[in-house]
Amino acid sequence: MFIDQAKIEVTSGKGGNGCVSFRREKYVPKGGPDGGDGGKGGSVWLRVNPHIRTLLDCRETRVYRADAGGAGSGNNKTGKDGKDIVVWMPAGTVVRDATSGETLVDLTGPESEYQVARGGRGGRGNARFATSRNQAPRRADPGTPGESRLLELELKLIADVGFVGLPNAGKSTLLSRVSRAHPKIAAYPFTTLEPHLGIVILDEERQFVAADLPGLIEGAHQGRGLGHQFLRHVERTRVLVLLTDVSSEHPEVDAALVVREIEEYSSTLAAKPRVAVLSKADLLGPEAHEAALLRARAAGATLISAHTGEGVPELLETLWRRVDEVARAESQSDDDG
Ligand code: GDP
Ligand code: MG
Repeated sequence: MFIDQAKIEVTSGKGGNGCVSFRREKYVPKGGPDGGDGGKGGSVWLRVNPHIRTLLDCRETRVYRADAGGAGSGNNKTGKDGKDIVVWMPAGTVVRDATSGETLVDLTGPESEYQVARGGRGGRGNARFATSRNQAPRRADPGTPGESRLLELELKLIADVGFVGLPNAGKSTLLSRVSRAHPKIAAYPFTTLEPHLGIVILDEERQFVAADLPGLIEGAHQGRGLGHQFLRHVERTRVLVLLTDVSSEHPEVDAALVVREIEEYSSTLAAKPRVAVLSKADLLGPEAHEAALLRARAAGATLISAHTGEGVPELLETLWRRVDEVARAESQSDDDG
């Protein structure tokens, strides 16, 4: 299983202090107590956002702190409440308290949320302490402190996009060009051919996980068994990118070979949407490049170079669109079923 992990610290806001104050009015020598209560401290919530697919944001922002409540003031004015803050999580994140090791919540539902650090209570102002016997109390409460917690987050990732192709087609190079982070991958005991994962980020709301799947074709070539666990995982991939070296003698033959191997390997995989990509465009001279571009267009393929970046942004847009289509269709059928 692919695992993404992050450790964050969350701190809720302290409650505001209550206030000691007495009314001052013209001609009234001593008014009654009018110190207001402190405001509540802000809480920290974890909330699932279906657009987020990885823990990358949490690995970049490690500390989340909600505001303190404001102090109360005279004239019975309550202090302002500290604003709650929300830490957005991908669905499926398991949250543990790093100190106790206790599992706090498993955010699996599409709209799950969890208050992970409660804001402090505001202290009472002296107006609250007035009684018939003590009409001028000088007592007010301080706000209660916020809570601080270290959290361990763990998410089982699905590779949205799998890169397949012959050895040397450029899969690893493309993955390292387009991805910003490489989550840890749990060991696969049965193979030395490890998939590599990368998180691709188009913008805040559009991220997907890509996996270089060398084991699939290269392993099959070498007659290695890849194990059911690996296959099951690969079969959850939503879109396949079929990468072919455009500078090879017969790119169409190479591509057909890979397609045949996918079909022999797994019918589930063969049924996945495929995006055809011709790689290493920079190796072509101007004329061959022009011809390849025309051929690629006619075939609905994308011509790219991982070295120069040509065609790569367009490819990522296409991949995002396809992944999103499949993900929507999946959640639609979940709703129906
Ligand atoms: P993989 O076996 O499919 O993972 O292929 P690699 O990513 O390891 O690439 C194989 C070789 O092709 C390496 O020497 C890369 O430097 C080279 N390569 C990959 N992408 C490009 C590209 O866009 N342009 C050029 N000129 N070489 C590339
Ligand atoms: Mg490779």
